[in-house]
Amino acid sequence: MSLATYKKKRKFDATPEPSGKILKGKGPLKFVIQKHAATRLHYDFRIEHKGVLVSWAVPKGPSLRGEDKHLAMSVEDHPLDYMKFEGVIPEGNYGAGVVIVWDFGNYLALGARDRAESEKLIAAGLKSGQVKIVLNGEKVKGGFAFIKLKNDKKGNAWLLIKEKDAYRKNVDITKKDKSVLSGKNLKQMEKTKNQWTGHAAH
Ligand code: MN
Repeated sequence: MSLATYKKKRKFDATPEPSGKILKGKGPLKFVIQKHAATRLHYDFRIEHKGVLVSWAVPKGPSLRGEDKHLAMSVEDHPLDYMKFEGVIPEGNYGAGVVIVWDFGNYLALGARDRAESEKLIAAGLKSGQVKIVLNGEKVKGGFAFIKLKNDKKGNAWLLIKEKDAYRKNVDITKKDKSVLSGKNLKQMEKTKNQWTGHAAH
């Protein structure tokens, strides 16, 4: 796992995002889904794995409907500190736009009983192109699968599919549009942008 690409894309004196480092996670494994109004609106789905957040950008966001297969583009690993990041990435920066923590919680690899088993299964799943997880978030719960598309030239296209379980529901979960941290939606978060005046020190 590496944060080199993450760091290369960002200027930490110009963005409120955490510069971050690879950390040893504690307690249950976490996941976060951030809603990000960049050039195009998308959801950033991130799971804690080996000290970083393995990440996918999902244009349509997660769905609780069994029939939905939503495109998920694999993107660079993010630091664990990014889990609690929300705010406004200023114009001129990579990913400029508003971010909220749309959902947050614990997760395990499907079939894993603890962190160690989960880390092994996720590592194998990232290699084989089939990552299955069970989420315990506020908005999304239950099993989800990331399935890597074969014959994809760039090699970063996956599909996000709800696993068959009691948490499948015929509702549009993205209608719930508020942050689980601040209670703000994107518009309300945008109005707070002037609160950030730059990093004091590094
Ligand atoms: Mn994003």
